[in-house]
Amino acid sequence: MISIDFSLTVALFTAVSLGALLVIWVFSRKQKDKELSLNPAFIWFCSVCTYNYVNTKEDKISVCPRCGSYNKKE
Ligand SMILES: [Zn+2]
Repeated sequence: MISIDFSLTVALFTAVSLGALLVIWVFSRKQKDKELSLNPAFIWFCSVCTYNYVNTKEDKISVCPRCGSYNKKE
């Protein structure tokens, strides 16, 4: 009776641990894919303060969020 309960507990613990690991793995993989799918056209480099930032609204000229200077896409 006790040994059955113990093995059941171990089985449940293993299943829950594996499930949690799977969820964490899938979640982190999705975030990685999201980062990789980011369009490089939206990544801006400030020529004044050398700050990298993301702006998806503008495509030709955008304002640097750090120093406020205008940057032009080449
Ligand atoms: Zn700047």
